[in-house]
Amino acid sequence: MSVVVNGQYNIGHICTRQQCDLGMGEKTAFRWISAHQDRADYTFNDLDRESSRFANVLQMLGFTAGDIFFTFLPKAPEQFFAFLGALKLQVICGTLFSNFGDDAILDRLGDAGAKAVITKKSFLKKLTRVRPQLPSLQYIILTDIDEHQSAEILSYAALMREASEDFTAPLTPPETPSVLHYTSGSTGKPKGVLHAHRSVLHQSMTAAKVLDLTQFDIYWCTADQGWVTGTSYGIIGPWSLGVTQIHYGGGYDAKLWFDVLQKEAVTIWYSAPTALRMLMREDAGLYGGYDLSKLRHIYSVGEPLNPEVITWARAALGKDIYDTWFQTETGGIMISNRPGLQIRPGSMGTPLEGIEAAIIADDGEVLGDGMTGNLCLKSGWASMFTTYLNNPVVYGQKFKNGYYYTGDTAVRDAEGYYWFKGRSDDVINTAGHLISPFEVESALLEIPEVAESGVIGAPDELLFEKVVAFVNLHEGCTWSRELEVKLRLHVSNRASSIATPQEIIVVDSVPKNKSGKIMRRLLKARYLGQDAGDISTLEE
Ligand code: AMP
Repeated sequence: MSVVVNGQYNIGHICTRQQCDLGMGEKTAFRWISAHQDRADYTFNDLDRESSRFANVLQMLGFTAGDIFFTFLPKAPEQFFAFLGALKLQVICGTLFSNFGDDAILDRLGDAGAKAVITKKSFLKKLTRVRPQLPSLQYIILTDIDEHQSAEILSYAALMREASEDFTAPLTPPETPSVLHYTSGSTGKPKGVLHAHRSVLHQSMTAAKVLDLTQFDIYWCTADQGWVTGTSYGIIGPWSLGVTQIHYGGGYDAKLWFDVLQKEAVTIWYSAPTALRMLMREDAGLYGGYDLSKLRHIYSVGEPLNPEVITWARAALGKDIYDTWFQTETGGIMISNRPGLQIRPGSMGTPLEGIEAAIIADDGEVLGDGMTGNLCLKSGWASMFTTYLNNPVVYGQKFKNGYYYTGDTAVRDAEGYYWFKGRSDDVINTAGHLISPFEVESALLEIPEVAESGVIGAPDELLFEKVVAFVNLHEGCTWSRELEVKLRLHVSNRASSIATPQEIIVVDSVPKNKSGKIMRRLLKARYLGQDAGDISTLEE
């Protein structure tokens, strides 16, 4: 049965009021576990009431349908109320990772023309620094002050106190814009991937058919809401089905994670390869004593899941791990392993029903089994993005002959399973986060000692890829431990802590082609001790 009733596609409504109307008002929508292990339960009635209040808050602040609002928070209950409240009002909601630095924030809020952002006191400094360059930004709402600080810096608590809890989402057609996530490319600024409320159809379908969620499950998705997995499968998919979620505000901690799994009797767990690899490295004594008998399935997304992790989980936890593949632009799972389909360790699985995948050569030829090429999807699935905000040209370039080009390369075997090969661009995937080498190079160039920079992703056993930077220093400048720390800190403050290079290598020059483009392929080949291939376009 579809979650869309009487043509109402509004995600905010479907995830809250609709669940109450179905008799689940008193059911726990989520158990909030803070980083300090405090626990609080919120019912679907609470979720409905608080998100409605927030919709009224935005309305009071002058927001109307199509305006853009952002969350810039670590995992927190307010994040869910604000996100769903904005959607109820048909306001577009963007989400930012809380570890983003100044440039990352500026690029995204600036491109989107965001009118307001909800954040915490401790992040205010970052926003204040970039505020003069954000003429559209009218309000900063802080979740941890009791009273308004100024006409622009407002208290969430005070706003919510004044707002009515009555709000009914307008009838929302499928194409109404909904969620905005920025994704990094290998050149230029990050692109705003815009989704529409219709995405809920695919997100709920996959939550049911791939994640196997039912109303009896206790579900834990570890993804941050700054990432598409955190919104598609940490908010929309599960709540559109009335599923109880665990939301844990702390970071990775093996013991605490196993405590959560056991104590909360988690039945379905969605995580990522880096975290699973970290668990695999822990002493077996740590997880051996836990009772995970309630846990039905484990899923993974974001980077390739190596077969060793699957083998480990089978032996150590007695569970399979189902790898799933999707990306910000697809809005939901497209290719996956799932219950009922035999797992091929190392493979991403098979395309879901209704999803047509193809491997296509650069010249447009559709390739057969066993041949590596561009991973493409026949366009038209329900959670497909609607555009790159302010960038229709690049959006158009992603489609050819009815196929969407994902930017990944892959191969299909004779049984129809897809195997990830790599990216067709220079984007770095570190612990599931896509990092633009261009953004890191630009940040490094802001340091006066740096004359040239080139950044690549190199294989890493834990993170899948690590960020490696090559820098050429200006004459007279010398390399030192202090300079290295300075460069690292600068990238962290400008881009994000995740983009911070793991290794910085000083070189005499950074190879560029005749048109001045950094030859990252050459840098990578040199780093790996491989043959660089054709370098005929190299600058002399
Ligand atoms: P994002 O848009 O940030 O979610 O990143 C999407 C990208 O992450 C994909 O295009 C892939 O390159 C990578 N990715 C996601 N899931 C998988 C997976 N299961 N196996 C291999 N790579 C993946």
